[in-house]
Amino acid sequence: MSVAEIIVDVPTMQTNRPFEYLIPDSLTEVVVPGMRVEVPFGRGKRKIQGFVMKVKDNSDFQGKLKPISRVIDLKPVLSDEMLKLSYWLADRTYSFQISCLQTMLPSVMRAKYKEFVIPIAEDDEVRSLLNDKPDLEITNQMSDETIRLINKLRKNNKIDIQYVVENQALQIKRQAVTTDLNIIQLHEAKSKLRANAKAQIKLLDFLCNHLEELPIEFSDLQGNYGISRAVIKTAEKNQLVKIIEVTKFRKPVGITPEQTNKLALTDEQKVAVDQISNAIDQEDSKTFLVEGVTGSGKTEVYLQTIEKALKKNKTALMLVPEISLTPQMVNRVVGRFGDQVAVLHSGLSSGERYDEWTRIENKDVKVVVGARSAVFAPLDNIGLIIIDEEHEASYKQDDNPRYHARDVALWRANLNKAPVVLGSATPSLESRARAQKGVYQLIRMKKRINDQALPHVHIVDMRDDENAAVKGDFSPALQESLQTTLDRHEQAIILLNRRGYSSFMMCRECGFVLKCPNCDVSLTYHKDLSKMKCHYCGHEEPVPNFCPNCHSKKIGFYGTGTQNIEQQLNDLYPNAKVLRMDVDTTRRKGDHAKILKQFGQHKADILLGTQMIAKGLDFPDVTLVGVINADTTLSLADYRASERTFQLLTQVSGRAGRAQKAGHVIIQTFNPDHYAIKDAAKQDYEKFFKQEMYLRHQSNYTPYYFTTLISVANQDEGKTLKQSYWLKKQLQTALSKDAILLGPSPTMISRKQNKYYYQIIVKYKHEPKLHQKLLEILNETQTDTKNGFTIAIDNEPQHID
Ligand code: ADP
Ligand code: ZN
Ligand code: ZN
Repeated sequence: MSVAEIIVDVPTMQTNRPFEYLIPDSLTEVVVPGMRVEVPFGRGKRKIQGFVMKVKDNSDFQGKLKPISRVIDLKPVLSDEMLKLSYWLADRTYSFQISCLQTMLPSVMRAKYKEFVIPIAEDDEVRSLLNDKPDLEITNQMSDETIRLINKLRKNNKIDIQYVVENQALQIKRQAVTTDLNIIQLHEAKSKLRANAKAQIKLLDFLCNHLEELPIEFSDLQGNYGISRAVIKTAEKNQLVKIIEVTKFRKPVGITPEQTNKLALTDEQKVAVDQISNAIDQEDSKTFLVEGVTGSGKTEVYLQTIEKALKKNKTALMLVPEISLTPQMVNRVVGRFGDQVAVLHSGLSSGERYDEWTRIENKDVKVVVGARSAVFAPLDNIGLIIIDEEHEASYKQDDNPRYHARDVALWRANLNKAPVVLGSATPSLESRARAQKGVYQLIRMKKRINDQALPHVHIVDMRDDENAAVKGDFSPALQESLQTTLDRHEQAIILLNRRGYSSFMMCRECGFVLKCPNCDVSLTYHKDLSKMKCHYCGHEEPVPNFCPNCHSKKIGFYGTGTQNIEQQLNDLYPNAKVLRMDVDTTRRKGDHAKILKQFGQHKADILLGTQMIAKGLDFPDVTLVGVINADTTLSLADYRASERTFQLLTQVSGRAGRAQKAGHVIIQTFNPDHYAIKDAAKQDYEKFFKQEMYLRHQSNYTPYYFTTLISVANQDEGKTLKQSYWLKKQLQTALSKDAILLGPSPTMISRKQNKYYYQIIVKYKHEPKLHQKLLEILNETQTDTKNGFTIAIDNEPQHID
């Protein structure tokens, strides 16, 4: 007897327990771990998808095992490494193994289900719901009333919900022509044809000349060579050609970068490359933290160490924060390694993503560059993992499984005996502290390439009279510098710091702020639509003419949007060309790249943008960076506010003066004495690190304390609060006196999607019982689904807000 342990994908009932299924005789040897299969589940004809975790010879199960219905894949889609990783990941992130397994694969490989209502009791309500039909598909279009009825009947066991797997086309299949005949046979066949069979002769001629390129797609033959479908069909009938299906890879649109050559290393780069190369050689899975000022040439270090790994016949994985924001980095990697690189990023359609994944899986590539989820790329024999801008919050997933790509990278590196390189000009405090302790090896690169000076930074105090007097958002100092830059035909980058800040509407009479009725956050004005819109749930309403609260006409906008700043720039410098980069101008695929390309070719003078322009850009003509409002990140209700501000200002300042010309930075702020702003102005990471570490120590925060965030949600506020207090009590009894428990408190957006959210924060140094206790609590609440509680546990959250 052959039995498989399978983690099933049951949309309503989640569990980490594998289920056992019989492997039918026809499928023995076929079914192996890592493969997706379809299995019967529950009553009726319900079939669901599952992952084979283990295959064994017998079962302790007393009842009768059901057989696997069919296999979805012909070979495993998850390697042993990935299966192993899924156990660790589920445990570490307090999530279900099924969601971990699915996260590792392209989204198109996730089962999609159609839901049907099936009657199990005779009843008037059931009959009226189904309208005398045997079943009913549940759709988004159903009214709330119908959904409520369905839920009620289901609770009373009068109906059941069944799932049917919806098949998705994973690859584009195309019809193509090929032949078994060789060139001599083709010529023979041609000579036997009569002169009036012109089209057939043309086809055979074509085949003789293109034998090497077969198979050729129908569409090619028709479009490029004018050979019709009918001609091909006739040739097939006469056994001259064969019609087959070929898999077509969707090529993601992008700019094919120029080939770049290896650079002669500077002394600092050489030290870094040597140390990392040594670790690759020795298969030493240690972690390097490369702390290099902006413009110190970290990328060349990455490229030459990747080359080293490839020379040892290994593969390399490189993570970047968000590819669309750092196209230059990707171009450098592709420019160096060409076709050996696969690029995985959020801008790809799901089909393109699947194709890139398949290329990696087929071992067609040796280097993978991608954002967070690329850490699960099915690379084999990894020799090096690089995480660029390792401090970026986007490496942490906000949703289940709440993993940090760095943790996963370290796990994989350990298994593959490969070193990890964490690179940044502004390392996260956690990583820098680990380097201090000797857990990571610190490599510092203090000089810019060619000894280029760091940019000169000028802090402008916006509280000064002359600055408070200006009408718009540009201080006289910034206006002047912009003018000088334009006069010299150089370029400028202007940052509008949008985090923690929005163009919200407020009444100056009563203080009323226009908020979303569902989400409890302020609505934002959208000029294009002339509407107020919620950034969380998408709710929109017209712009009010008077205050809904006190009817005063003194309701107006506070805070400036990028469009407004763009207008101000146009008014100040009518002859300058301004490019704007924000969410509105980058909705479509390739928009980022287009804007950056134009700016790079100096087709514009000023690049204006939000946070997305702060990272990784390298334009030689940029000599001025202006920051409109440095303070907004400081006012984030988050203990990392200073760290985020320092990182943002350092990164954006680093965009100035990267080539021969000297760089200038102007930072406008209402907090000119804040250490995060002063240290960023000097690009002095070490100084900032010391000060921030001191403050974290004072208030018991990371990296001195570990943090776990637990959030409880329910539609009933009273129940949510009660459950939160119960949970806190449970933790208090389980943990030592040293653990710090905060809350429960409502989260900043306390009514997301009409649910109430409360959170509890646990800060601790050493609590061996915490993990087990949290798993227990999770189990207890989740099995009790009828109460509708959602509990989320976030290990080391990136933001608490
Ligand atoms: P970082 O990522 O550390 O901010 P980059 O890797 O973007 O810096 O390098 C800054 C600039 O210096 C780039 O234009 C790069 O091409 C150039 N550069 C890097 N290393 C060298 C080198 N060894 N010789 C000459 N130019 C270099
Ligand atoms: Zn009012
Ligand atoms: Zn909303």
